[in-house]
Amino acid sequence: MVDELYDCIVIGAGPAGLSASLFLARYLHRTLTFHHNTPRNEYAHGVHGFLGHHGIRPGELLARGRDEVTDHGGLIIEACVTAVEKLAPERFRVFVGERAFEARRLLLATGLRDLTPDCPGFREFYGWSVFHCPDCDGYEVRDKRVAVLAHDKNAAGFTVNLLTWTRHITLLTDQHEISTDDYAKLAALNVAIRTDAVTALDGDESTSQLQRVVFAEGEPLECDALFFNLGTQLATDFHETLECRLDPECGLVWVDETQQTSVHGVYAAGDITPQSQLAVVAAAEGAMAAIHIHRSLFPEDLR
Ligand SMILES: Cc1cc2nc3c(=O)[nH]c(=O)nc-3n(C[C@H](O)[C@H](O)[C@H](O)COP(=O)(O)OP(=O)(O)OC[C@H]3O[C@@H](n4cnc5c(N)ncnc54)[C@H](O)[C@@H]3O)c2cc1C
Repeated sequence: MVDELYDCIVIGAGPAGLSASLFLARYLHRTLTFHHNTPRNEYAHGVHGFLGHHGIRPGELLARGRDEVTDHGGLIIEACVTAVEKLAPERFRVFVGERAFEARRLLLATGLRDLTPDCPGFREFYGWSVFHCPDCDGYEVRDKRVAVLAHDKNAAGFTVNLLTWTRHITLLTDQHEISTDDYAKLAALNVAIRTDAVTALDGDESTSQLQRVVFAEGEPLECDALFFNLGTQLATDFHETLECRLDPECGLVWVDETQQTSVHGVYAAGDITPQSQLAVVAAAEGAMAAIHIHRSLFPEDLR
């Protein structure tokens, strides 16, 4: 038995989930939002490019968002959702351990997890001088010496993107092969390539300033910043339990123009969907999802 049937349960309280929760609360829907306090950008020193909030600490942006949701009557619970279940076409059950909650609509806003380098030094500099997103932090490395740690088929494209801001780039493949075409393309653009195994990141920990990359063999590479691109994974497998279709190209959760997944009543917003992975985009998708969830809940006699 559950105490109450919510109009919508939002799983995830990053920019996507909170933005949706705020709109849903303002539409006077009974909304319950879960957050596990593990937003993707918890290591970032500031959110860049969020109009009106450029540079705000990620924790502060989310704390403000949570206050705005609760000020409008939304309910937020800090807890890890452990399972989800579809009971009927418009009825979903969400579990936090033994406790169950039910809603007519479900919004998945659980974000992604970045695959990160596992070498010593990474955590000390991540978010300050080690980054993964050129759109977020490329501007900050203008004309600086940048190391790029990447080795899959996106390595060349990722590296070329960074040429927008600096010509002083060295690609580190960490003993992985890159294709002959990519090698030739990068060489023509004067991008240096090192294939040695990366063993550590080193620098001034008091200022979180990376100064060099250390290799198993050969001289360390002096640099001011490092970008990595080692892939991502969906933070939860709820889309699988609910049988939501994935986008075949990027492997993220497919949504239509209303942010609804392939399962009626289940919506998704933010990094788990195929759009650009930016806080401001996640917030916009959350708002869009809320608008369409609201329309879908509109009483039939008022339609
Ligand atoms: C280091 C770094 C720096 C970044 N810098 C910028 C920047 O400068 N500008 C920019 O626009 N973007 C930046 N980004 C990208 C931005 O952080 C993401 O695009 C944005 O956070 C996506 O929002 P989201 O709501 O989809 O997911 P997230 O912010 O990842 O939030 C996911 C939420 O889901 C919750 N959750 C997950 N699983 C569960 C569960 N089982 N139960 C309950 N809750 C759960 C988490 O607790 C969290 O609240 C950066 C990312 C990183 C990693």
